[in-house]
Amino acid sequence: MNFSSRLLQWYNENKRDLPWRNSSNPYNIWLSEIILQQTRIAQGIEYYYRFLEKHPDIYSLAAASEDEILLLWQGLGYYSRARNMHAAAKIIVMYNDGVFPNDYHELIKLPGVGPYTAAAISSIAFNIPEAAVDGNVIRVLARFFGIEDPVDDTKTIKQIRAIASELIDQRNPGMFNQALMDLGAMVCKPGKPSCEICPLANDCFARKNRLERRIPVKRPKSKQKDRFFHFFVLLVKKKDVKVFPVEKRKHNDIWKNLYQLPLVETSGMELTNEQLENINLFKGFDYTHYFKPTNTPIYRFTHLLTHQRIHAFFRIITLPDDFCHNFESEAEWVTFDEFLQRGKPVLISRFMEKAKDLLE
Ligand code: SF4
Repeated sequence: MNFSSRLLQWYNENKRDLPWRNSSNPYNIWLSEIILQQTRIAQGIEYYYRFLEKHPDIYSLAAASEDEILLLWQGLGYYSRARNMHAAAKIIVMYNDGVFPNDYHELIKLPGVGPYTAAAISSIAFNIPEAAVDGNVIRVLARFFGIEDPVDDTKTIKQIRAIASELIDQRNPGMFNQALMDLGAMVCKPGKPSCEICPLANDCFARKNRLERRIPVKRPKSKQKDRFFHFFVLLVKKKDVKVFPVEKRKHNDIWKNLYQLPLVETSGMELTNEQLENINLFKGFDYTHYFKPTNTPIYRFTHLLTHQRIHAFFRIITLPDDFCHNFESEAEWVTFDEFLQRGKPVLISRFMEKAKDLLE
C-alpha cells in the first residue's frame, strides 16, 4: 500500500468526530477553519456552535455589526481573524451573491484566507486536489521524509507543500488533507510521537533513525517584548448608578476595534504625573487632584500573547458626579453591565470579574 492508501485506511478507522465534518457546506467549513487557525479544537467547537447559532449563513454574518462579531469572538484572541472573516462575508455577499467561490485562487483573495485555509476549503467543500499544509502536516512530513531544515523557514514550508501536492489523493483530496492533519494531531504529536501505532512507521525516516524528538527543527525563538499597560476606571456615581468611560482601540496594534478602559502605556512599571496626563480622553484634566500615580494598582495581571508579554495595572479613580458634563470628550460612559456587552480583551474581562463589586 502506498502512503495515501495507508493514511486513508487509518483515517477511516480513527478519525476525530468533529461537527464540521458532517457538512460539505463551504460556509460551515470556512467558519471552522478560521476559528481553528490559532485555537485548540475543544475551544473551537464551542465558538463554532456559537457563531452558527447566531449566524447560520453568510448573509446573516455579513449583516452583523463588527462590534457584535468581536463580542462573539471574545476570548479567542487574534481578533484580526474575526475582522477579516466579517470583511470576507461582506465581500462574498456583495460581489458574489452570497455564493462561496469554488476555486482556490478566488478563495485566497478573501481577507483572512491564506494558502492553508484556501486549500482546506477547496479540498473539503469542493473536492479540489489542493494540499492543505498546517503545523500538523509539516511535522508529519518533516519526520517522514527526514527534513532537517528549520520548518519555520519559508523555503522549507515551500518544499513540504510541494511534497504534499505530490502525495495528495486525487480522488479524495479533502479526506487526505484531514487524515494527515488528524495523524499529526493524534499520533505524530509534538514531543513524543506514538510511532508504535502509526500507519506510516515502516517507511518513516525519523522513526528508522530515532530522530522523532529532533525533527521538526525550529529556529530559536525571538524574545518576547514586555509592554506595560496602566488602565484606569474613572468612576462617577450619577444618582445610584456607577458609570465610567470606555474607548475603542483604533490604532494598528493588538486588539484593534475592541473596547478598553482609558490607558497609559509606559516603558516600565512606574507611572509619573506627566504620563498620567496622557490619558487622552480628558485632556487638560488634573487627575492628580484625585489620585497620585504612586497609588498602588488594585489589580495587576501578566497576560501572554505570542510575541508580547503584557503587564497590566488597573486603578480606580473616583471622580465628582458632575465630571461627565464638565469635560468635552469622545468618551462613552457605560455601566458595568453595558461594558460586559462590548467586545474587549480577555485581560479586561478578567479585571471586570475581579472588580465586579466595586463597579456595579
Ligand atoms: S512513525 Fe512516528 S515520527 Fe514517523 S510519521 Fe509516524 S508517528 Fe510520526
